[in-house]
Amino acid sequence: MTASLQRICVFAGSSVGSRRVYVEAAEQLGRTLAQQNIGLVYGGGGVGLMGRMADAALAAGGQVIGVIPEALQQREVGHRNLTELHVVASMHQRKELMASYADAFVVLPGGLGTLEETFEVWTWAQLGFHRKPIGLLDAGGYWQPMIAMIDHMIDQGFVNSRHREFVCIESQVPELLEALRAWQPVEQPRVIRSGET
Ligand code: AMP
Repeated sequence: MTASLQRICVFAGSSVGSRRVYVEAAEQLGRTLAQQNIGLVYGGGGVGLMGRMADAALAAGGQVIGVIPEALQQREVGHRNLTELHVVASMHQRKELMASYADAFVVLPGGLGTLEETFEVWTWAQLGFHRKPIGLLDAGGYWQPMIAMIDHMIDQGFVNSRHREFVCIESQVPELLEALRAWQPVEQPRVIRSGET
C-alpha cells in the first residue's frame, strides 16, 4: 500500500552552498512537487536553497505555503509571491504550523537550522509523536558524513537501529518521493502504564 502525499514540508538551507548540485537539487525538488501536484510547505524565505526551491515550484505552477516568524521576515527576505505566506510570532509556531500542514518531511542540504529542524522531526518520530515519513535528499552525497555519525551512534549503543528506519535516504528526487509513498511506520513498543496489562 502506498500513501498519497498532498503536502510536503521541506527543510533547506538559507544559503545556496558551494556546489551547483545543491541548487539543482532544490530546483528539481520544487519543480517535481509542482508536477506531481504536491503542495510545498517551507520556511517562507526568498534566500538560499529555500528561495530557489520555492521559485522553481511556483514557475511550474505549484502551490507553495510559507511560514515565517515576524523577526526573520527581513533577514530571510520573506517571499512575496507565494500561494500563502503565514507570518507567525515565534520559531516554535513556525515549526508547529509547518509540521501540521504536511504529510511528510523532506530535507535538502542546509546548515545548522536545517539540522535542528530535521532532528526535531526525527526525534519526535522516535518518541511516537507523529507517524509521518522523513526523507533526506542526499544531493551530491552531502548527508553522508551525518549518516556516518548516526551509524556510529548506533554502533556505540546510543541510538536504536530501528530509529534509523524513520528516515529514507535517496540522492534523486523521484526515488525519494517514491520511498516516502512506500514508507510504513516503524512500530513503536506500546507504553504500558502501571495498572494496565
Ligand atoms: P540554515 O540551515 O541554518 O541555513 O537555516 C535554514 C532554516 O532553518 C532557516 O529558515 C532558519 O530560520 C531555520 N532555523 C534556524 N535555526 C532554527 C531553529 N533553532 N529552529 C528552527 N528553525 C531554525
